[in-house]
Amino acid sequence: GQKRVPMLSVQPKGKQKGCAGCNRKIKDRYLLKALDKYWHEDCLKCACCDCRLGEVGSTLYTKANLILCRRDYLRLFGTTGNCAACSKLIPAFEMVMRARDNVYHLDCFACQLCNQRFCVGDKFFLKNNMILCQMDYEEGQLNGSFETQVQ
Ligand SMILES: [Zn+2]
Ligand SMILES: [Zn+2]
Ligand SMILES: [Zn+2]
Ligand SMILES: [Zn+2]
Repeated sequence: GQKRVPMLSVQPKGKQKGCAGCNRKIKDRYLLKALDKYWHEDCLKCACCDCRLGEVGSTLYTKANLILCRRDYLRLFGTTGNCAACSKLIPAFEMVMRARDNVYHLDCFACQLCNQRFCVGDKFFLKNNMILCQMDYEEGQLNGSFETQVQ
């Protein structure tokens, strides 16, 4: 889920709160309150990149007991979209191939007629939303199976 971190608040009077990050008492004048717990300013950090989440107005994300910054949350749990070839969801951390508005799993990015894979720099064509290698594309052109519109 997505949670807005409240601004620093002044330590309430009475018993000192324990920090949910380091388990020590918070002796500072200010503390952070997030996820119904109290934190030192320095202890509320992203589990991945260690960036501080206590800056004013920042948003923190939680998932599977992890506290994450927006960037890492999206990287780990976000999605890129659906693969145009197999129509399965692609997690955000996976490498993808892009062609026009489509995204593809690396494994799915192959000529849909002859299954040839493409290397960096190889020419590919997008026809009727199908990925084609140069050979199949040109063959289709010759047979007149496509109207002309080159990628
Ligand atoms: Zn702490
Ligand atoms: Zn982070
Ligand atoms: Zn796919
Ligand atoms: Zn082909």
